[in-house]
Amino acid sequence: MTGKIAVTLATLESHNHIIGDIERGVKIFERGGVEFLEHEPGEYVGHVPHKRGESKTASVKFSRDGRDIEYNFCHCTWRLENSPVCRHVVALVLAIQGGIVNTELTLGKSASAVTKVTEHNTAHAVGSGSTHVFATPMMIALMESAARKCLAGCLSEGQTSVGTQISVEHTAASPLGAEVTATATVERVFGSRIEFIVTALDGSGEIGKGRHTRAIVDAARFMTKASERR
Ligand SMILES: [Zn+2]
Repeated sequence: MTGKIAVTLATLESHNHIIGDIERGVKIFERGGVEFLEHEPGEYVGHVPHKRGESKTASVKFSRDGRDIEYNFCHCTWRLENSPVCRHVVALVLAIQGGIVNTELTLGKSASAVTKVTEHNTAHAVGSGSTHVFATPMMIALMESAARKCLAGCLSEGQTSVGTQISVEHTAASPLGAEVTATATVERVFGSRIEFIVTALDGSGEIGKGRHTRAIVDAARFMTKASERR
């Protein structure tokens, strides 16, 4: 383990969770009585109150940075593969980390970025094509910009976000003078890995859509690693 354990509700919800069990798990945690022990570094097993004095045995293994869960299991579902995040796992995670992690980063959070098509961002200008319409790489840059803005208020001092994956369709050509708006919406959160749905539209309708992933990183460490590649 390299950091303290800090799994957000958005991360728990992004795993294969049982509908309603995030809220039920929070209630169990708040009532208290969850007992646990760390049997390997980052791996815990616990007894979680169930009903009428009964308890369920659940276990959880955290990712190295402590912000995600790598593996979980509970006797209530008894599934070894792809075990769902049930209320007992939620209560166990909250008990281990000592509470709910407060974050602005929630599923469904969105932000937009706007630009105008000019001679500087056409396919012809950036070299991605020969036509004087909005360039695909500029649409991608606008989508990334929207996603970056979406995370802006959720970063700690010294952190930044970097794009790690993008897969989009560019379905219509926007002419010079058109105003293009890209929107990024948080779909899933796995610790420091954030997955977005991205769309772009101009005055006449949708021009592109797809998926984008960003990673929240320590800016200084990221730049050190990058300069080592020289
Ligand atoms: Zn359970």
